[in-house]
Amino acid sequence: MTDPDHAGWNTDTQAIRTGQLPTEEQAHSEALFLTSSFTYDSAAQAAARFAGDEPGNIYSRFTNPTVRSFEQRLAVMEGGERAVAFSSGMAAITATFLALLAPGDHVVSSRSVFGTTNVVFDKYLKKFGIDVTLVDLADPEQWRAAMTDETKLLYMETPSNPLNEIGDIAALARLAHEYDAELVVDNCFCTPALQKPFDLGADIVIHSATKYLDGQGRCVGGAAVGSHDRMEELHGFVRSAGSCMSPFNAWVFLKGLETLGLRMRAHSENARQIAEWLRHQPGVRRVHYAGFDDHPQHELAARQQHDYGAVLAFELEDSQRRADRQAAWRFIDATEIFSITANLGDVKSTITHPASTTHGRVPDDEKQRSGIFENLVRIAVGLEDVDDLKRDLARGIAALGGEARS
Ligand SMILES: *Cc1c(COP(=O)(O)O)cnc(C)c1O
Repeated sequence: MTDPDHAGWNTDTQAIRTGQLPTEEQAHSEALFLTSSFTYDSAAQAAARFAGDEPGNIYSRFTNPTVRSFEQRLAVMEGGERAVAFSSGMAAITATFLALLAPGDHVVSSRSVFGTTNVVFDKYLKKFGIDVTLVDLADPEQWRAAMTDETKLLYMETPSNPLNEIGDIAALARLAHEYDAELVVDNCFCTPALQKPFDLGADIVIHSATKYLDGQGRCVGGAAVGSHDRMEELHGFVRSAGSCMSPFNAWVFLKGLETLGLRMRAHSENARQIAEWLRHQPGVRRVHYAGFDDHPQHELAARQQHDYGAVLAFELEDSQRRADRQAAWRFIDATEIFSITANLGDVKSTITHPASTTHGRVPDDEKQRSGIFENLVRIAVGLEDVDDLKRDLARGIAALGGEARS
């Protein structure tokens, strides 16, 4: 599926030029095939398609040309052999586990993964006899100690949400391969514009296309990328399980990919300016941002990412040793531009209180352990004018009795 010529292009060119299907009408923009099924010239052709003797579309739960275009473009951009699209990021994640694992298999995962991924581990994989050991993303010794002969997958997200911890993709890929296991990387926060997990040895890359691939908060979708063999397994699963991507959504994501590089650079630049500004503001106790020289894993982030992305978190000063959410809530409520929503990856900046939203179901001791304190605020910096965003955050600082510095 990967056209060798396109593999030689840079990501920004692939994002615009790869995977487009020619149409009879010579449409310049990507075509949207909004159809559930496809027709045949004859009964014999139908039989040949169903038997797999003749390639071609049958039904949009199996294949759809617009969805294929999106898969092709994303696969080439990530540097993988093939992609499979799904109805959501969670559908991609669940399919990866269910299609590739069997009862008795073992998974080692970072504990800082998307909340719902943890629900899948706890509630569903366990039910099918698949054990998951959770470890700290940034501590390679814990990963190694958790490995068993049954370990089939290592699972990580980097940078982590919301604290910007960084996992060493190359080191964990080596560890996985030592045990004949595979490394799965959820690349949602960086996207192939900023991080290429396959270049570092990862085996499968997962996306929630809902976030930066769309980039404008319109559609829910997901994808997995990997080798022909592994993706054939996942495609077989999606055909039967039915968690397929809608062609309309695929079309939106195709158009989203065209501006991905531009957006990710602009998101990262805005976030850098906001992070630098925030760390000098009264009432702000600490900013979690891997772009800072003094971030404990700054060097690793600089090595494996092209830039630092746009999701960052900060702790507010509070009198109650990080146990009081009032400061965080007052800060959030004082902003006027930032949208109060747990979503991210949008041109619109968003602000949320992780302890009571994205991490609300995490037990208190676990929250303490992983640094999700009550005084923590997460922002995903969008593409509004950065001075307007600073003025907006200054409203939060003022609400806590401080006066923002320029
Ligand atoms: C949102 C998100 C998901 C889940 O994606 P959906 O499209 O909402 O199902 C998975 N991983 C990460 C890192 C996410 O941010």
